[in-house]
Amino acid sequence: MFSFLSREPVHDPLAAPTPTADTTVKTTTCYMCACRCGIRVHLREGEKGPEVRYIDGNPDHPLNQGVICAKGSSGIMKQVSPARITQPLLRKAGSERGAGEFEPISWERAYDMLTERLGKIRATDPKKFALFTGRDQMQALTGLFARQFGTPNYAAHGGFCSVNMAAGMIYTIGGSFWEFGGPDLDRAKLFVMIGTAEDHHSNPMKIALAKFKRDGGRFISINPVRTGYSAIADEWIPIKPGTDGALLMALLHELIASDLIDHAFLKRFTNAPQLVVLDDCERQGLFAFDPDPARGPPGDGRNPHNKLVWDLADGTVKNAYPEGIADGCNPALEGHYTLADGTRVAPSFQLLRERVASCTPEWAQAITGIDAQRIRKLAREMGDTALKQAFELPIAWTDAWGKKHPTTQARPVAFHAMRGLAAHSNGFQTVRALAILMSVLGTIDAPGGFRHKAPYPRHIVPNYRAFNDPGMIQPNTPLNAAPLGFPASPEELAINPDGSPIRIDHAFSWEHPLSAHGLMHNVITNAVKGDPYRIDTLLIFMANMAWNSSMNTMAVREMLNRKDDKGEHMIPFLVVCDAFQSETVAFADLVLPDTTYLERHDVMGMLDRPISEFDGPVDSVRVPVVPPTGECRPFQEVLIELASRLKFPAFTTPEGGRKYTGYPDFVVNFEPQPGIGFLMGWRGKDGTEHLRGAPNPKQWEAYAQNNCVFQYHLPETMHYMRNWNREYLDFAKDKGWRQRNDPVQLALYSDTLQSFRLAAQGKSAGRQPPDALRERIDTYFDPLPFWYPPLEEAATDLAAYPLNALTQRPMAMYHSWDSQNAWLRQIHSHNYLHVNPLTAQAAGIADGGWCWVESRWGQVRCMLRYSEAVEPGTVWTWNAIGKADGAWQLAPGADEARKGFLLNHLITEELPCAGTASGTISNSDPITGQAGWYDVRVRIRPAEPGEPEESFPQMASMPAVPGVLGKAVSVLTYFAGRGKK
Ligand code: SF4
Repeated sequence: MFSFLSREPVHDPLAAPTPTADTTVKTTTCYMCACRCGIRVHLREGEKGPEVRYIDGNPDHPLNQGVICAKGSSGIMKQVSPARITQPLLRKAGSERGAGEFEPISWERAYDMLTERLGKIRATDPKKFALFTGRDQMQALTGLFARQFGTPNYAAHGGFCSVNMAAGMIYTIGGSFWEFGGPDLDRAKLFVMIGTAEDHHSNPMKIALAKFKRDGGRFISINPVRTGYSAIADEWIPIKPGTDGALLMALLHELIASDLIDHAFLKRFTNAPQLVVLDDCERQGLFAFDPDPARGPPGDGRNPHNKLVWDLADGTVKNAYPEGIADGCNPALEGHYTLADGTRVAPSFQLLRERVASCTPEWAQAITGIDAQRIRKLAREMGDTALKQAFELPIAWTDAWGKKHPTTQARPVAFHAMRGLAAHSNGFQTVRALAILMSVLGTIDAPGGFRHKAPYPRHIVPNYRAFNDPGMIQPNTPLNAAPLGFPASPEELAINPDGSPIRIDHAFSWEHPLSAHGLMHNVITNAVKGDPYRIDTLLIFMANMAWNSSMNTMAVREMLNRKDDKGEHMIPFLVVCDAFQSETVAFADLVLPDTTYLERHDVMGMLDRPISEFDGPVDSVRVPVVPPTGECRPFQEVLIELASRLKFPAFTTPEGGRKYTGYPDFVVNFEPQPGIGFLMGWRGKDGTEHLRGAPNPKQWEAYAQNNCVFQYHLPETMHYMRNWNREYLDFAKDKGWRQRNDPVQLALYSDTLQSFRLAAQGKSAGRQPPDALRERIDTYFDPLPFWYPPLEEAATDLAAYPLNALTQRPMAMYHSWDSQNAWLRQIHSHNYLHVNPLTAQAAGIADGGWCWVESRWGQVRCMLRYSEAVEPGTVWTWNAIGKADGAWQLAPGADEARKGFLLNHLITEELPCAGTASGTISNSDPITGQAGWYDVRVRIRPAEPGEPEESFPQMASMPAVPGVLGKAVSVLTYFAGRGKK
């Protein structure tokens, strides 16, 4: 009998599973959140085929090393969730969208309808088809589908998630956090986490943090709320939301003023010494350049290597490369100089120094709420750790200019940041400030600092231009570029000759020029307004746009059902593909039942978002471990089927036949470049080649036999300094990860941003913004980081709405995915508004009491809990726990609907903007279009006596759709009492 005092473990969690006669174990990849841990699925033969018995972490997987979280182990309850939809559904003729009244139809009929409708759109005006997807992991396929269709109206969830983080970092250091890079906690001594809840990179971060703390590392968390990772930090520094940029600017001020910066790193590996033109002319604010045509055209973001520096050694101007980095040259980081032709110039670092000169800790204290002395101490801690606790690893490497470095310099201060910085309308410049802070400390791809993951670093600006030629939207013609990319100048914007947006979401227009991930949060609003045009069909995959994926939820629900004068819906045809009966399903005209992650093939590869480790690329797959439920089909198969029926060129043989039998066949055989495919492991005809090689017909089998993961270990000489590491740059180009092998100099100063500003100022030839947006571009496209208040504040009476309001993702749930999960909803069946006791008491609200939360845009009623773990000016709640009544197959009156609430009702998707066609503009970052989720200002008051004790607003109950799995009771008693077969 087991004793609680036993020193022996109950079982060895890392032991190889021992299948019994009636169980088998299959490995695949978790998808209960986006971290993509390796899992072992234990199966038993049931009455109708294999059934999942339980799931545990795969100890042989490089990402999670056997660790599994509550969500991952609850995948069994997702598989048998009562909310699963199991057959294609067509909205009943005459029923209203939102009523959820459907008739089941066959897949053949669904395909026929889609083929006919999409075929007509493609043959006439392809942009009238829009494909927007949520937190999926197949953008290499969905993006290809849109491009082959010929529509620019495509994006995934990044625009409302963390595009500010991705773009702000990539435009500065060529990489970003999470999939693209992260903190090297194995060698860091100080770890500073900013604006991160318990979500991204969940299990790997927990594993690394546990080891880091055991090894004596110091962990500081800067966040308005002390939850998740912050709860185990050595120090929590509360900060007011939307003010992180001010803190980072003050830290830069202190580091530069105290000379706690890595001079040698700045001079060789960044554009800090490069000379910027100061004169009032068409090149003002751009880098002065070497006029020798052999060194390339004058600087734009794509040609960064023809600039000039001022050599302090002999007082002359030199080409930045290679003369400016040759032994004996000492490029200036400071001062003002005059070129031979009289042009006044200064090193860009001088301009940064001038920029942060007024950003004192006292200035930041007034904005952030953090004491000035604490800011000073923090800067000193960072600088001292990076420079005075530095060490070298005995790893020799050669840089891009041929210089041999006998060792690798460690800078043991690491950072991690995520949506807390990003989801503000000032997030891009805030993230730029963070990337520059990391750069001045020399921590980029250095041991103990930030490290890239292949295929990063990218060029600055990445060599992916978004589609931008309206003349190329032609019937039955693929686009000549991918719908998404990274603009480097106004000439690359997706605009018409009159400056209006090409895209339905206004991405890559003058409203949001660098919107690398699109603006999914504005698609429905714009489509209903017909701004810039009306569309015909909107296909939504895995995004809950009628609930937690939209701002201004009630208005969006009304818009989805809005009709024109002729009685036609403003969005005529709405197709929703989902595995569960979400709120959005009720609004669909056609519902396509998706599989779960346990029932399908999936790829997390180098063409999209691999799971690479610091020391080399890693990709992974999912393979079906159980057959599809009912008539569910994977969305990937649906896309391959439609692409084949519509005869997209990439999916059709020269003879006009179907090229791929299905998604697995497509993954094996599709090659965007010779030898490069969706997967990099076990390539070549016999499966003996890796990274690059001919298609291998047995590639899926090879992955299935190897824990569904392929890991490539780079030699140690390629582990660090990869922006400039000659061996790595050549290798990465050879393997198709990069188009060029030139170095990636860090862009402390962004001439890309300045090129937009010059256009706004009317100084440059070429495209110029409409007059109404000139001031906006001029203000925000600053080549140096700066802090400004979130844009919503200008539209809000801050005295009337004194509090910031935030959401965070809980540990046990991911987005809206888990309220249908019988185990996980026992952890969170409803949410509270968490408020500092001082704030709540001042408003007269008791702990556990009902209250109203009001913004300028709406109001919700909810329950409030006191919490010391939130700064007094902020209120917060868990995201997406509140549900519409009846959705997700929750019983009418379930806690999720009656007690849970959604903060989205308080957030607007648009702000007033004089001069745009609609008089409004997206409530987003003016540079990237990142949704400003965390900018909303609110006030709280007690609910009146006698008010119903239920959350507000309440929805009419959503009925069960035909074929929904149901059987909630049997789920709760899963396997109970069933004997062995
Ligand atoms: S962190 Fe948890 S839910 Fe996310 S992939 Fe890993 S095991 Fe699955």
